[in-house]
Amino acid sequence: MYNYTKQYINGEWIASTGEETIDVYNPATEEKIGAISSGTEDDLNKAVAAARAAFPDYAQTTREERIQLLENIATEYEKRKDKLINIMIEELGSPLSFTEEVQYTMGYNHFKATADALRNFEFTEDRENSFIQKDAIGVAGLITPWNFPTNQISTKLASALASGSTVVFKPASYTPFASILLTEIMDAAGVPKGVVNLVNGKGSTIGNGISNHPDIDFVSFTGSGKVGSQIMQNGAKDIKKVALELGGKSPIVVLEDADVETVARTAISNIASNTGQICSTGTRIFIPKGMYQSFVDMVQKLVPEYPVGDPKDENTFMGPQVSKDQWEKVQDYIQQGIDQGGDLIVGGTGKPEGLTTGYYSRITMFGNLPHDGALAQEEIFGPVMTVFTYETINEAIALANTTIYGLAGYVVGNDPDNLRKVAKNIRAGRITINNTASDFSAPFGGFKQSGIGREWGDYGIEEFLEPKTILGLPK
Ligand code: NAP
Repeated sequence: MYNYTKQYINGEWIASTGEETIDVYNPATEEKIGAISSGTEDDLNKAVAAARAAFPDYAQTTREERIQLLENIATEYEKRKDKLINIMIEELGSPLSFTEEVQYTMGYNHFKATADALRNFEFTEDRENSFIQKDAIGVAGLITPWNFPTNQISTKLASALASGSTVVFKPASYTPFASILLTEIMDAAGVPKGVVNLVNGKGSTIGNGISNHPDIDFVSFTGSGKVGSQIMQNGAKDIKKVALELGGKSPIVVLEDADVETVARTAISNIASNTGQICSTGTRIFIPKGMYQSFVDMVQKLVPEYPVGDPKDENTFMGPQVSKDQWEKVQDYIQQGIDQGGDLIVGGTGKPEGLTTGYYSRITMFGNLPHDGALAQEEIFGPVMTVFTYETINEAIALANTTIYGLAGYVVGNDPDNLRKVAKNIRAGRITINNTASDFSAPFGGFKQSGIGREWGDYGIEEFLEPKTILGLPK
């Protein structure tokens, strides 16, 4: 049982000023695995005061000191590999192989990639008539969701620390323990007192308190559009800068010359990885009309190769949804697809056979649904895909862009001209051609309602800086 009911403020673990706690559950067993503090406004005020007091000195640290700090954090992160993996399996239900290869690795890569970006980052620019200097933004409030317990917060922490800013952060209440471990990592790495402060608690109290706090200069938020919009409104009151990483409904465009097995595997792994709980995953697939039946046959043949079940089993591909609420939401969308007369290619409502305990869904794909319906347009955050056919590339691009979102896009096929054409014309922040591996030095973020701003690498550092122009600076 993890009982972590203290807050980390000014370099120390201290008791909350409130008595309330929030229980945390394992979504695979439905059992309670621990509790955290349901923090108070007082806790938040103390954390912000500590971050404010630490800011002047931390902002003056050198590039070399901050690179060393990020490298120390990466080293301490590596030392706790097993603990981090176990915690994420328990609190999120993330399968062992995915947790090791993706969840754990992404968190690590952000500290390394940001240290590398910092080595060559231009903090000043000498122009003919002016001198431009980029200053740390000040105190940043970081709010993160549950779907990648170390990735989401690591990119924000790395960028903030690289810029010379200090932070107060609040992880999601479903998955707080990886963040608590990350805070121990910050401490062990020698992050100075007050530079990183953790306040656990409810979104409505601590999250809302961060976006309303007069002494926080910048809020970097990852989560739902609904809460992102609320944060923008709160921030507007005192003209606080906000960066928002929100949802998606990303398209996969398949070219005529694509290999059908690759297409089917791309489709299944997009919706089943992390149980479909990935903001940038491909959830709408556009297939040439003539390929539809062979795609359906291939998906039906391959789905059994993606086992759903116990996240601790190394053969499991897909674990449970994070919570009962999320499971019910997914079930509701699948029922809507059935009610609307969609062709159920695989999956359906209910739990997979033999899994009675745990919030397990079935890998589900629908064909023959309308482009403007809920399943084609709304973010489900579960293993559900809608399959559409097209006749021309231009039609596929237009359909791919028919969404309020613009976080990511995918293209599968061979013809270089068509790969280029689709990739360049999808209106989204990150396009992946033929499952190319990720690049942690390149920007991540969304067009349209998928967000404002960018994270990762040098673009991530940039978010935490204020450019200042000095005219007439003595040479
Ligand atoms: P969420 O409900 O918006 O929660 C995200 C965070 O905001 C949590 O820490 C939550 O705290 C907090 N929060 C809740 N209400 C708040 C309020 N009124 N003011 C400030 N903070 C508040 O989102 P989620 O369900 O955890 O995450 C899923 C969403 O995140 C999806 O839409 C997904 O696409 C998006 N996402 C986007 C990216 C990206 O990079 N673009 C990455 C991952 C996820 P509690 O946990 O205590 O409620």
